[in-house]
Amino acid sequence: MDSDRRKFLTATSAVLAVSTWSDATRAQAGKASVRKIATEEAFATPELVAAWLDIARSDPAASLDIPTGILSIFDNPRPGSNQDRFRRQLLDIDTERLRDMDGAGVDMQLLSVTIPGVQIFEPARASALAITTNDHLAAAIARHPTRFAGLACFAPHDPVQAVREMERAVNVLGLKGFIVNSHTHDLYLDDPRFAPVLEAAEALDRPIYLHPRAPSNGMAAPFRDYSMGGSIWGFGVEAGTHAVRMILSGVFDRYPRLRIVLGHMGEALPFWMWRLDHMAARRAKDGRMKPLSLAPSDYFRRNFAVTTSGFESPEVLDLVIKVAGIENIMWAIDYPYESSRDAAAFIDGADLTGEQRARVFYRNAERHFHLI
Ligand code: MN
Repeated sequence: MDSDRRKFLTATSAVLAVSTWSDATRAQAGKASVRKIATEEAFATPELVAAWLDIARSDPAASLDIPTGILSIFDNPRPGSNQDRFRRQLLDIDTERLRDMDGAGVDMQLLSVTIPGVQIFEPARASALAITTNDHLAAAIARHPTRFAGLACFAPHDPVQAVREMERAVNVLGLKGFIVNSHTHDLYLDDPRFAPVLEAAEALDRPIYLHPRAPSNGMAAPFRDYSMGGSIWGFGVEAGTHAVRMILSGVFDRYPRLRIVLGHMGEALPFWMWRLDHMAARRAKDGRMKPLSLAPSDYFRRNFAVTTSGFESPEVLDLVIKVAGIENIMWAIDYPYESSRDAAAFIDGADLTGEQRARVFYRNAERHFHLI
């Protein structure tokens, strides 16, 4: 082989190799470069952990959250266990969390206080802890303003202070919405005493993220065995029941612009929507339920958004897109309880158009939470 031909072949194969490599890399980079905003990402503060442990020791029957989560994560978890890692990662904002985000290509986490938040405490203490927790969150965001945004907690059972804190959180601290960790002392947000809180969320035009906690005391008994109170089943039953109470009680006729965000692919509501519509129509006709202006599925599309937290099922994603609409679906990890890389890979690999993927990864979050 003469040297010109050898040069030509070498150059050609180099071009081919570069071209093959760069196509694959471009495809990879195309996915990696989609902005990613994770919308259900948990944190805790040392002050809250101490207060949760106080109540867990002094009143262990106060809530199923105590055996389900508080004691296993915060009361001397076995070194090296998942619970030990959760405790460390919940309390960290500035180091391990940012490394994890960088490793998984996560641009921003929308932070919210982990369960049961402040709602397990009596009203005055809950309100005081809401203020210090929101201040802690705002300070963390101020240290990393491009990497974090946050949802404010408040004490629903102290409605006057709650509304004051909701206004401060949005107008002074710049937080983007609210976190409610499901029931408050066994009451749900359809209860008339919480009306000021719903009114404030609507007036401030910020969503309430209705996050699960273990089932309320009225329905906790069958969830006490087999670790059923937590994420395997109880969380979804509790939060789904909460959302159905809000729909069937007419909350969204009273607050038509109120927006509720549900995690975990909608806490089973998308699966139930046909039957909810069917039975709501029948119950209204036979006078067993106050008639609603709209069908449950209409409220679901108008007043709810859904996140993919901790739920990597392609079949369920298809269903949620059909029931909730692609414009109402947001990506979430459920850090530190779930893997950031797996959550990103799920949406990267989902059967979505580029436009749909961008909506799920960041555009819907930017719109629903006023992030830009
Ligand atoms: Mn969560």
